[in-house]
Amino acid sequence: MDAESRPAHPDPAAAAHADPAVADPTTAQCSPCPLLHDPALERRVHDLGTDLLSVARRSRRSVLSGTFWSDKMMDWASRDQAFKLQLFRFIDAFPSLGTPGEIYGQLVAHLTAPGVKPPPGLRLAVKAGGVFKGLTAWILSRRISSTARRFIAAADAEEAVKVLEKLWLSDTAHTVTLLGEKCLSLDDARKYQGDYLHLLRAASDAAAKWPARARAETDHLGPIPRANISIKASSLHPHLDPANQESAIEELLEMMLPILSEAKQGSVQLHLDMEESELKGIIFGLLKRCAETSDVEIGVVLQAYLRSAEDDAQDLIGWTRATGRQITVRLVKGAYWDYEKARAERTGQPVPVWTLKSDSDACFERVAARLVDAIPKSPDEGGIKLALGSHNLRSIVAVLALLGRSGLPENAVELQMLYGMAEGLKAAAVERELRLREYIPIGPLVQGMAYLVRRLLENTSNESWLKLGSTYGADPDDLLASPHRSDECAADGQETG
Ligand SMILES: Cc1cc2nc3c(=O)[nH]c(=O)nc-3n(C[C@H](O)[C@H](O)[C@H](O)COP(=O)(O)OP(=O)(O)OC[C@H]3O[C@@H](n4cnc5c(N)ncnc54)[C@H](O)[C@@H]3O)c2cc1C
Repeated sequence: MDAESRPAHPDPAAAAHADPAVADPTTAQCSPCPLLHDPALERRVHDLGTDLLSVARRSRRSVLSGTFWSDKMMDWASRDQAFKLQLFRFIDAFPSLGTPGEIYGQLVAHLTAPGVKPPPGLRLAVKAGGVFKGLTAWILSRRISSTARRFIAAADAEEAVKVLEKLWLSDTAHTVTLLGEKCLSLDDARKYQGDYLHLLRAASDAAAKWPARARAETDHLGPIPRANISIKASSLHPHLDPANQESAIEELLEMMLPILSEAKQGSVQLHLDMEESELKGIIFGLLKRCAETSDVEIGVVLQAYLRSAEDDAQDLIGWTRATGRQITVRLVKGAYWDYEKARAERTGQPVPVWTLKSDSDACFERVAARLVDAIPKSPDEGGIKLALGSHNLRSIVAVLALLGRSGLPENAVELQMLYGMAEGLKAAAVERELRLREYIPIGPLVQGMAYLVRRLLENTSNESWLKLGSTYGADPDDLLASPHRSDECAADGQETG
């Protein structure tokens, strides 16, 4: 998801940013989740979850996240934080290393740091001399490239459309994005703008030739665009300054105008990804300005790990009601947790994210309940079209149960999952005929390193549902347990950094 600022870098020192203007979390709203007081609804969650989990486990793509877990190096990284930190620093530096000698030198420098215990195979490699140095560098280069290709679908738009078509034919929609989003100069920003325009045209032209796939191109209100592009605001502006929010929004809008017009012409849906919390006001503001300027289909991301998430949801819902506009909201937990916490620790500001994993999970369901209530029931009604960016089956089925309670069909919500992850869950979603969209990052390896590191962090985190879900014999009752506490809306002990 980023190349330069490295917000999810395991090294907090690498995450230096300007001081944020975060919403005051101590005044954030909280309303109890309907699931908390409704045993019948909770039973529905359990039943739906058990069904989908058994399909995911039976699936030929079986293991929940592909071959990842059989990878010994990642397994070791999950267990040893010092090794994980050094390994990911090495992977981050890898694209800038030219010769096998440099690769080997950096590997040794990282893995012989004090307190680091590499797994036995790597320990031997680090001690190797002579020809083994070159061999070690070659094996590692191949390993890193093939790991990257597991999460990064294609190098460019031309290669990407083949992946998109294959997905389409298996009833899966896409949203495609360019890696390396943080631009450093205006020239960089213009290059990204040109690349997004090129990608838009390629996706739109390709999608026009695909055969009909009702499930992927209709929701409960009617047809939805086949082609979909996700954009990072930070790729279109080199200095987004939260202290000058209005001018940042206007400058971004200027960059977006050709993209909006091309998207409208090619029937492409646009989606603004969410980044670090200090950019939230700018990104929400940009979404609103784009939607006021063009009637292109557009959406944004809401992060439930933010203590302000319910306020954020209310802000977007209120705006759609006031304007009569429909927007898509991709509800996620958030990809910058380590960074947000480290930044608050560094600046002494209140921590903007929940610090218990179950609090993020519970907030996801509370926010989802509000968003489900805001789903339009007819094509001309303003409101929120809901998408869930999650690989946590409990979080997904909780929302399916909430839909049923509101009398909405299952295609009123879209499941979104990342390319290369949660293959068993995707298969279960397709088998149940749920609407599924894959998030497809494309670009050269060198621009994808921070995205790769973020995926590796996610996959090796002991808090990850996907990791627990892929544990052999994990108990469905544990995997589907409610995250809610009866006192979850009581005044929250606010942590400062
Ligand atoms: C299609 C798609 C698009 C996405 N787009 C974006 C985007 O635009 N912006 C963005 O920020 N993220 C985005 N994400 C990433 C997403 O925010 C999550 O990081 C990721 O999906 C893991 O969440 P989960 O529900 O799948 O898994 P879970 O395992 O249920 O949740 C893991 C998440 O919990 C949170 N967490 C972990 N530890 C703690 C803790 N101690 N206390 C509190 N919370 C904790 C973190 O957010 C972590 O990512 C996207 C994900 C998908 C699938």
